Amino acid sequence: MPELPEVETVVLSIRDQLVGQKFTNIDVRWPKVLFNFSKQDFINNIVQRNITNVHRRAKFIVISFAEEILAIHLRMTGKLYFSNGKTDEKHISAIIRLDNGQQLVFEDTRKFGRFYYYPSQDFLDEKLGIEPLGDAFTAAWLIENLHCKKRMIKALLLDQRLIAGLGNIYVDECLWQSGIHPETKSNKIPKKNISTLRDSIRNTLELSITARGTTVVNFSYLNGKSGKFSSQLHVFGKDGQPCAICATEIKKKRVAGRGTHFCPSCQKKRY
Ligand SMILES: [Zn+2]
Repeated sequence: MPELPEVETVVLSIRDQLVGQKFTNIDVRWPKVLFNFSKQDFINNIVQRNITNVHRRAKFIVISFAEEILAIHLRMTGKLYFSNGKTDEKHISAIIRLDNGQQLVFEDTRKFGRFYYYPSQDFLDEKLGIEPLGDAFTAAWLIENLHCKKRMIKALLLDQRLIAGLGNIYVDECLWQSGIHPETKSNKIPKKNISTLRDSIRNTLELSITARGTTVVNFSYLNGKSGKFSSQLHVFGKDGQPCAICATEIKKKRVAGRGTHFCPSCQKKRY
């Protein structure tokens, strides 16, 4: 499933070709792909409008016009790319045409990906938490927001209303790096570990974007491969293998409804 770094990578791969352009039409092959608007709405509200920006908000790809936005969520298998003539016709949900003759293709094998039209980005912002790569995501912010709650840290970090865009793999890696057991109550975590957690979240996401940024050049992500970052994982998927810090066997258990990997020695439980 595409995580924040993959979505950021997709944004970077299409931004320059979209900004300053205009859409002229949409060919909808899978009607459900348009979540809260119709093809006619697209023609009335989006066609011939100048594209002012393309950015990421949580795991949404946001294409901005003057005020309105077209937000795209890739979900499980969505791929958004400029047509290179090798599109898999069977799996295409929609093709958007541009006034310079290019085609933006949305391919989606499982068909869970969706397009959303909103009058402004406020509609997304009110449902989503802080951006972990934004300036406001500081150690002080994280300490305050974890200490005022008494929820299990793993569940809290996965909650998109607190921090937007952190997936299961990244949460496990960052908790391991900061020595926090995934079942620890958020108000019991020492400030020092939360500060490490903040830096770890930031560094892990940035490293992952860099790793995938290099693979997107040859479109290996678009062909379904996971990019180079998977070779840098330390706990996720490593159950039964020795911890890279202390050589204790990595364990796997279900926490917050998700398969969770941790080192029982480096990540002691605190109540
Ligand atoms: Zn360990």
